[in-house]
Amino acid sequence: MTDPADGPLTVGVDIGGTKTDAVVLDGAGRILERHRTATVGGSAGVLGTATGVVDTLAAATRRHPAEFGSIGVGIPGRVDPGTGMVAHAVHLGLENLALGPLLADRFGVPVRIENDVNAAAVGAFHVLGMDADRSMAYLNFGTGVAAGIVREGALWRGSGGNAGEVGHIPIDPLGPICKCGQRGCLEMSASGSAVARLWPTAHPRPVQDLMDRAAEGDERARRVWNGVITGIASAVRILVLSVDVDVVVLGGGLVSAGDPVLRAVRSRLGEWGRESSFLSSLALPARVRLLDGAGPPDETSGQPVAALGAAYLGRSARPVPATSG
Ligand SMILES: [Zn+2]
Repeated sequence: MTDPADGPLTVGVDIGGTKTDAVVLDGAGRILERHRTATVGGSAGVLGTATGVVDTLAAATRRHPAEFGSIGVGIPGRVDPGTGMVAHAVHLGLENLALGPLLADRFGVPVRIENDVNAAAVGAFHVLGMDADRSMAYLNFGTGVAAGIVREGALWRGSGGNAGEVGHIPIDPLGPICKCGQRGCLEMSASGSAVARLWPTAHPRPVQDLMDRAAEGDERARRVWNGVITGIASAVRILVLSVDVDVVVLGGGLVSAGDPVLRAVRSRLGEWGRESSFLSSLALPARVRLLDGAGPPDETSGQPVAALGAAYLGRSARPVPATSG
C-alpha cells in the first residue's frame, strides 16, 4: 500500500491586507512548513509577495517549486477560480490581476485562486475534522461580513461566487445606507467598519474597548455592543434558515475575544428561540461555535485556516490558461 503522505507536496497561500501566511502540506494534509511575511500592496507587490513565499517554502523543503503538486491562493476581492483573475481587492490596492495564470507561468504548477473567506471555510472544515457528509458555514467578521459555505466537504460558491454574501442582506429598513447602495445591510451593524463608525475611539483595539466599556455599564457602549451581538446572531440565523448548515463557525477580528462573544451570541439566539417554537426547533445556539473554543481562528498564533484551505482547494486545480505575453 502506498502511504498518502508520499503524495506530492502542495502549497497554500493566504494573502491578507497586511500579512501573508503560507503552508506546505504533505500528501496526508499535515503542515510541513509555514512561512509568514508582510504583504506588499499593488499588482506587482502582491505577485512578488506570492512568488516570494512559494520560493521560500521550496527552499525550506529542499526542492524546486515545479516539484510542488499544486498551489492554492486565498485572497480578498472578487475572484474567478476559472480564470485565476482577481478584481477589486481594494485593501491590497489592486484593481485587476491575472494572479493564477502569472503564478502558473512562473512555477509550471497548477494554481487555483479563491476568495479568502471561502479558503478559510475549507480550512476550518478540515481543522474541525468534520465528517464529509456534514455542512458548515464559516462566518467572517472582518472589515466587512461574509460567509464561506462548505457542503458535503466541498466549497459551494453559488452560480456567480456570491453564496454566503450575507453582509449585504438588509436587516434594518431604517438603517444607514451601505456602500453597496442598499439600506441597513447586516454589515452596517456587525463588522469592524460598523464598530469604527458607531464607537469612534483612539484605542488601538476598538472592539476590546467597546466590550470593556459595555461590561463597565456605559449605556452607549452597551447599546452599540448589543447591536453588534444582534447582528452576529442574525447572520447565524440567516445561514441556518437559508442553507441549513450543521455548524456555523465564527471568525474574524470582531469575535477575537472568543468565549464571551460566543456566550452572548448563543444567549441572543436562545432568547429568540423562547419567542418562537419554530426557531427553537432549529437549535441555533448549539450550531454556532468558534474554531478553537476561544480566540480568533485567523490570528497568527492560531491555526492557519485560510492558508490550509487554499492548499486543499489547490489540489483540485486544473492547469490555468497561460498568459499571452
Ligand atoms: Zn450592503
